[in-house]
This record gives sequence, C-alpha cells and structure tokens, in this order.
Amino acid sequence: MKETILIKNGELALKGLNRRTFEDILIKNMRHRLSDLGKFKFTSAQSTIMVEPEDENIDFDEAVRRLTKVFGIAALSRAAAVEKDMDVILSCAGEYLRDQLEGARTFKVEAKRSDKNFPLKSPEICREVGGKILSMYHHLKVDVHNPDVVVMVEVRDFYAYIHGNQIKGAGGMPTGSAGRAALLVSGGIDSPVAGWMMAKRGLNIVGIHFASPPYTSQRAEMKVHTLCKKVSQYCGRIPLFVVPFTHIQEEIKDNCPEDLFTLIMRRLMMRCAEIIAKKEDCGALITGESVGQVASQTMQAIACTEAVATMPVFRPLIGMDKDEVIIISRKIDTFETSILPYEDCCTVFTPKHPKTKPKLSQLEEAEALIDVDGLVKEAIENTKFIMIER
Ligand code: ATP
Ligand code: MG
Repeated sequence: MKETILIKNGELALKGLNRRTFEDILIKNMRHRLSDLGKFKFTSAQSTIMVEPEDENIDFDEAVRRLTKVFGIAALSRAAAVEKDMDVILSCAGEYLRDQLEGARTFKVEAKRSDKNFPLKSPEICREVGGKILSMYHHLKVDVHNPDVVVMVEVRDFYAYIHGNQIKGAGGMPTGSAGRAALLVSGGIDSPVAGWMMAKRGLNIVGIHFASPPYTSQRAEMKVHTLCKKVSQYCGRIPLFVVPFTHIQEEIKDNCPEDLFTLIMRRLMMRCAEIIAKKEDCGALITGESVGQVASQTMQAIACTEAVATMPVFRPLIGMDKDEVIIISRKIDTFETSILPYEDCCTVFTPKHPKTKPKLSQLEEAEALIDVDGLVKEAIENTKFIMIER
C-alpha cells in the first residue's frame, strides 16, 4: 500500500478550455510548496490530481497540511493506493480507515469505476466493502443519507484508491492564474486579510508599505514583514516595497488644512502605489478599506481617494464588519501580529476633526499648496525593496 493525496479542484472544473492552464498553474504551485519535503509525482485525470510521494520517509502529514493552504483546491483526501484486486481492496479498506471508522457511528461506501474492465461494478464493490467493514466494526451502522464517514473506493487506471472523509481545501483559484496586483499593506488587521482574499481569487501579490521614520519605528516595519510572511504561506513570496512617507506627511501637515490631512495623505499613497504597481506589472491596487469604518472610509472620502487612481482599486472588505474580518485574520494567523501595538503612519498627525464628507475640489485646492509631483518622485526614488520569502 502506498499513500497518495487526491486533489479535487472545485471551481477549476468549470473553466472549460482554460482548464489545462489553470491545472498547470495549480500543479506548479503545489510542486513549489512541497519541494523541500522530497520528490512527488503529479498526475491528473477525471477532475482529480494525484500527488504521489516518490521518496521514502516523506513527511506525509506535513505535505497534507501544506496543501490545505494552496488556493485552487476545493478538497483533498489522503488515500491508500492499492492493487486493483478485490481481495486487496477488502483487506485494506477497513484497516486503512481505522481511525475514522472507530470514531464514527454511521458510514456508507461509494465506489467510482473509471476502469471499466474491473470485474465488479460499483454497487457490487460497495456491497462487498460495506459487508467487510460491518464485520470488522460491530458498532457501525450504514446510513446512506447522512453518514459520519463516507468510504470511497475509486478504481482508476493504475490503482484502486481508498479514502475516507475529505479534508476541506483553501478554495479559490490558483495563485497567479489571475495576474498580479499591489496590496497597500499597513500593520493593521484589515490589509493582510484583503491581500489574502485577493490571492484566493488567483492574484499574485506585491506589497507596498508606507513608513514614516522616526514617527514610525523599525519594529513597526518588521511587523509588516511578518504579516506578509504569514500571507505568503498561502500565496508564495511577496515582493515588498517600503516607501518613505515622512517628508510627504510633514509637508501636508505644514501646508494644508488640518481637517483634510488624512485624505490628502491617502491620495498621495494612491499616487505612489500606482507608480510602483505599474512598474511591477500589476493590474490593480488592493486596500483593506470598508465603508464607514473610519472617517477616511466614508463613501465620499473613498470617492476622493479613488479619484487619483487610474487602475482598478479592489477593496474586498468593503461590505464587511470588523468582526467578520477578525474571523478571517484569526484563521490565516495574522491577527496576533496585527494587534501588536506599534504605530502606523496613518496614526501620525491625525486631525482631531477629519472631514467625513469632503469635496474633490477642496482636496485639489489644498494639494495645490504642496509640490505633489516632486514629493511623489522623491518618495519613489527612496523606496526600499525586500523580498518576503515564505
Ligand atoms: P488596516 O487594518 O489594514 O491598517 P485600517 O482600518 O487601519 O486598515 P486605514 O488606516 O484607514 O484603515 O487604512 C485603510 C487602508 O489603507 C488599509 O487597509 C491599507 O490598505 C492602506 N494603508 C493604510 N496605512 C498604510 C500604510 N502605512 N502602508 C500601506 N498601506 C496603508
Ligand atoms: Mg491602518
């Protein structure tokens, strides 16, 4: 008996002619994710990808754990691959699934037979395997509607695969299948979640962080590195650009009306981000904004920020409550890092009474008081690059 991982790739099955391309990207991502564990063979047939360890002593649990974080996988199963012989199947099924069956009260058997030369038909396979399991586990009952465990027997080209309940995958589309986008990443709770959500839809992520030393510390920047690293567990390495924002913020503070400070700052962030995003071949910007969360995220404020962007701005959290965002941030393990109490450039010089219903014309007038183009150019020239490896 040899253990294999069977990958069911959900939404990919809908992609028709593009399916091969999507599958190739998914296999490339899986291969990359498992590369330091040993050699694996990937084969795909009938909406399933089989991942077969080729070395002895591969840490199989770790391989399964890692694959649960790869986008584009709806569900996966650990399966026993055995010879296509009914006696072998019968002696393996009950034993291989011992843990699941001992912990269950009910089960059913399902069989799929893509090898039509196999002497038994699916209902016969089910009946024999079911009988064998009942004879081994006297506490079990068959429940065909809502069983605790579904025992699957898949008779395919080279092996019969036996597996129990599926493990839920990360879902979504394979990272990279939808192109590249730039995430404006702060040290907060929202932006890492926003990045994860868009990576889930198949985007490769480039990070852009604005730092204002000495008002923000090196530790605050390290926190952003950690957050990117956590998100990279799902989407692979993240190129991170750290843009110096101190001079821009000081110029706005010294020259523009106080109540517009945050919005002018955000408009300059968008301008800088777009320049980097274009150079990096990104098709969109991503932010963690959500309507009404703070003064700079009212509908009117978002409209003013968006007005300087020429590329689409993706805001996956736009309609979410903070507690819904927190649930995801806990799930992807960014929450504990996000709540570390370091300062962010957004909390430097914040006005006491920010405008919540700004007019674009007011902002444009205020920005005429500073050298927007010169400041953006200077910030871009002094931007630092770090590759955040997984
Ligand atoms: P977060 O929890 O992501 O910090 P937030 O609720 O604190 O979000 P804001 O501070 O208003 O909201 O920021 C809104 C969005 O602007 C963030 O989600 C992020 O995309 C971007 N942003 C804010 N500060 C920075 C920063 N220092 N560098 C890069 N992007 C930032
Ligand atoms: Mg923030």
